[in-house]
Amino acid sequence: LNADEGENVAPDFSEHRALHVALIGGTHGNELNGAWLIERWRRNGKLIARESFQTHLLLGNPKALHQVRRYVDQDLNRSFGDMSAPTPREVSRARNYEEERARVLREQLETFRVIPDGVLIDLHNTTANMGLSLIFVNRSQFNLKLAAWVQKHMPEVRAYCWLDETVPRRSSTSLVDRGITLEVGPVANGIVHGDLFWKTERTVQHMLDFIEAYNRGAVQFDGSDEVELFVHERSVDFPRDEKDRIAGFIHPELQDRDYQLLEPGAPIFQSIDGQVVRYSGEEGRYPVFVNEAAYYEKRIAFSLTRRETRRV
Ligand SMILES: [Zn+2]
Repeated sequence: LNADEGENVAPDFSEHRALHVALIGGTHGNELNGAWLIERWRRNGKLIARESFQTHLLLGNPKALHQVRRYVDQDLNRSFGDMSAPTPREVSRARNYEEERARVLREQLETFRVIPDGVLIDLHNTTANMGLSLIFVNRSQFNLKLAAWVQKHMPEVRAYCWLDETVPRRSSTSLVDRGITLEVGPVANGIVHGDLFWKTERTVQHMLDFIEAYNRGAVQFDGSDEVELFVHERSVDFPRDEKDRIAGFIHPELQDRDYQLLEPGAPIFQSIDGQVVRYSGEEGRYPVFVNEAAYYEKRIAFSLTRRETRRV
């Protein structure tokens, strides 16, 4: 699926029931809410059971969870891209744990028949103040209507579209057309955040209810809903010194201001001696992932989105 299809020819899933849904937690080993929810649902499957589809529970990265770190060898959520070369399992395990996990998870998703035409929901936490964010990799009718459905029950839930074609798709959600990341924050690494734990479960419940209604033909793609989308534009790196080291931090006035309009001239960084760096980019941009801990190594201080509304 090409990302631009969301732009021009929205993929039509209206006759395309989802018989298998996967819920994944602990893709990152220091994001505990999702992993704990998977455990809760394993103990009480009724919470996530619906009549028209089977729900499958998966733990993304057990070894990293055990060590309470994001990953062991490499970021699992950037490991799903190139798995075409059939490497013997023993060899790859010795070489790289996450490459092996990506292969195993994909095999499980194929066995469960989530691949190719089910729905995959991957639960994450962020240190950024992003509240409850649905992250899509395309603007399909299905995704837009799902966002509208969830927002009717929980207006605080945001929809964020990552359509950046300059980076290869290597996330778990790139394995299917209907892959949705539920990104929840702010949560510090390595903790379970009770309030957001329950709100995450509520959000998932509404997503499952939507899929159930959709499978029953009870969802009309008739343009009756308006969805507000934040569409990824680009990411912004920290200021750097001559040795390429990070030379400043997020300005206090930008901290926690995810999804709030960033005006040209607004302070975005501060150096260690207090010098202010101001935003000199385009108007009408909304920052997300502001000060996400895991993105320091990815050269991302925050990402910029533009806001658009779509009818679905
Ligand atoms: Zn994550």
